Amino acid sequence: MKLLSHPILLEHGLESHPESPKRLQAVLEAIEKSPYHNLLDLSISRRATIDELELVHTKDYIDRVLSGGHLDSEMEITAETVEAALVAVGLGLELLEQKRDGFLLVRPPGHHAEPSMGMGYCLFNNIAIAAKKAIQIGYERICVIDFDVHFANGTQKALEGDSRILLMDIHQENLYPQGFGAASIVLPAESGDREYLELFEAVIKPKVRRFCPELVLVSAGFDAHESDPHGNMHLTTEGFGKLAKGLSELAPQLILFLEGGYNDYFLARNVLETVRQLCLLRL
Ligand SMILES: [Zn+2]
Repeated sequence: MKLLSHPILLEHGLESHPESPKRLQAVLEAIEKSPYHNLLDLSISRRATIDELELVHTKDYIDRVLSGGHLDSEMEITAETVEAALVAVGLGLELLEQKRDGFLLVRPPGHHAEPSMGMGYCLFNNIAIAAKKAIQIGYERICVIDFDVHFANGTQKALEGDSRILLMDIHQENLYPQGFGAASIVLPAESGDREYLELFEAVIKPKVRRFCPELVLVSAGFDAHESDPHGNMHLTTEGFGKLAKGLSELAPQLILFLEGGYNDYFLARNVLETVRQLCLLRL
């Protein structure tokens, strides 16, 4: 079990932005003060190559990101943003190549990034590129599970239709971005631990067991937490821990990617509880 992150990921974005460097800073400080500090590796700066980005994204879109400017009214692409985005993808590929379990403590997040368009604070789709890369290097059955409170529009566009990939995207109905895809599992606002854990037992677990994946990739967003300003759900820190335990029991190899979570204090607590549960089973 490894926790990968890198200081360059803190160089992108503004402290006044909702997806600010303070989020990841809070997570890293909590890990460094915890019993899991020796799992954290900040030394690897593997960058995704253009060929790897093209596993999901169009050449025109990649060129647009790499040349900088404004993605939209909310995100400026600086040189540091480009570096952070390339490393955020690259660290996932690093764990894949090492055939390790792990949690990518990265930003910018990825699951809203579509093949030809970034949005929702996301530039490149970290998890979708990892899934495509896994197929390229010989994995035959991959499960991708997204429990961020928002619809994973980008991941669905990138991965839908590939029978080697089972995608399940749990998200709150009528939240950003509007719409849903074939992989959507929609929960009403105000759902909490009971609803999420029942869904896990009744839907996620049997589907994953039937599919029998070699690798489970998880978009781990923590904005369904009861404290989060962007969602309207009531998951608790203990609830996230139970979800992590359940996922861990299902996966021969498990790699999590940090997505959303906008209450810095609880984001750090939720990541720490997730790591604690994963370490009970997979250290
Ligand atoms: Zn989110």
